[in-house]
Amino acid sequence: MSDDTLSGWEVVVGLEVHCELRTETKLFCGCRNVFGDEPNTNVCPVCLGLPGSLPVLNKQAVEYAIRIGRALHCRVQPSMFHRKNYFYPDMPKDFQISQYDVPVNADGWLELPSGKRVGIVRAHMEEDTGKTTHVGGGGRIHGAAHSLVDYNRAGVPLVEIVSDPDMRSADEARDYVDELRAILVATGASDGKMEEGSLRVDCNVSIRPQGSTALGTRCEIKNMNSLRSLGRAIVYEASRQVEVLSSGGSVVQETRHWDEADGRTHAMRSKEEAFDYRYFPEPDLVSLAPSQEWVRAVEDALPVLPAERRRRVAEAAGVQAGSEPVATVVRLGLDALVMATVAAKADAALALRRLANEVAGQLAESGVHDIDPDAFVRLVRMEHDGELTSAQARTVLKDFVADGGDPKAIARQLGFEAMGSQELAGAVETVISANPKEWERFSCGDDKLVGFFVGKVKAATGGKADLRAATEMLRRRRGA
Ligand code: ZN
Ligand code: MN
Repeated sequence: MSDDTLSGWEVVVGLEVHCELRTETKLFCGCRNVFGDEPNTNVCPVCLGLPGSLPVLNKQAVEYAIRIGRALHCRVQPSMFHRKNYFYPDMPKDFQISQYDVPVNADGWLELPSGKRVGIVRAHMEEDTGKTTHVGGGGRIHGAAHSLVDYNRAGVPLVEIVSDPDMRSADEARDYVDELRAILVATGASDGKMEEGSLRVDCNVSIRPQGSTALGTRCEIKNMNSLRSLGRAIVYEASRQVEVLSSGGSVVQETRHWDEADGRTHAMRSKEEAFDYRYFPEPDLVSLAPSQEWVRAVEDALPVLPAERRRRVAEAAGVQAGSEPVATVVRLGLDALVMATVAAKADAALALRRLANEVAGQLAESGVHDIDPDAFVRLVRMEHDGELTSAQARTVLKDFVADGGDPKAIARQLGFEAMGSQELAGAVETVISANPKEWERFSCGDDKLVGFFVGKVKAATGGKADLRAATEMLRRRRGA
């Protein structure tokens, strides 16, 4: 966020994330829950809202909801379903079964890689709507020639996760979604694919004078389908509000639409109040009261979550838990490699550096390769022991990450034969006798010449010498 546009103001962000659950079937019927099928093929009287059909709750969906709740440190509580009434073509029943005043999960928190905690107000269950496609008019409803509706998604189970307004920048909001996605994927409850709509983010943005603790009037922004859009939308919206307030106007509470093409938010509709939806208890479902044993069993089966993994990696490598390399390594699922290095008593800090820089960069371009931990540890050792220079180690690492194999064999193929200290000493002696004048000056204390000699050693060995070792040897030789 640029400081000049926001100077004197603080941005306040809260997020509502809808997450589709990875169940086999929909929330209240046996229709398949799968992305990308032929439109209107996974439908039945229940999810089409035909008269006389009755919903039956999907137990797997409840289990996923509990996993999410406990992973977010929420209280899992007895809850009930409500009807949220509104009319829209993508909702065949003209109401959505959701949870209202008693959600299954309440009062939790999520820890960002920075260590900051963001409060979770609730994480409730509800069903998804169908999907409308506007044909013509640039895909927007205004100016469209006609619209198509696909009910395959109607009735797909969702958990809606509502945060406290605890975020203070676009970056923090992005970190939150990134972290939440990692948690959802780790629990197995969702595939977390933003591009397929499995994860959909709405964002509440307000601003207030720096130092103020009161909340300003917020706008809700919809239609951001990437982390990049989310960040851009928040920056734009905050600056827009600064302009409104600075020119003596007031922010109107409304829902705004993010337009990726023009990089702006546009007023969509004035914000609905809860009473607009005429919530009432869903008469066709009993209340939901998972037993304590079930909740405990679900919780016990949760995997180690990203925040804890970061703590473990940081401790193992002896660095700060909030540090960038640790977050990167855990985000990419490379922490097992750091831990393998620790277990083998090799240089974990070096392993962390190589993974967070070289390997992370390479994976960003090429996708994930199955990296063999033992072989990786061997390579870390080769670099640490000076068998390879750091430049050579990075070259070997690149080939190793791309194609696997044995680091020693790769090094040999690349001509990075380990240079023994004997051989290095020989090269150093040759270089000294070939440059007596310079050696005289170096011996008398002209330390600048160390670079000259190291360069000569490098040339004499065809780049194979460990330059750090060569430097040490030259200094030692001078002192003798
Ligand atoms: Zn159905
Ligand atoms: Mn919702």
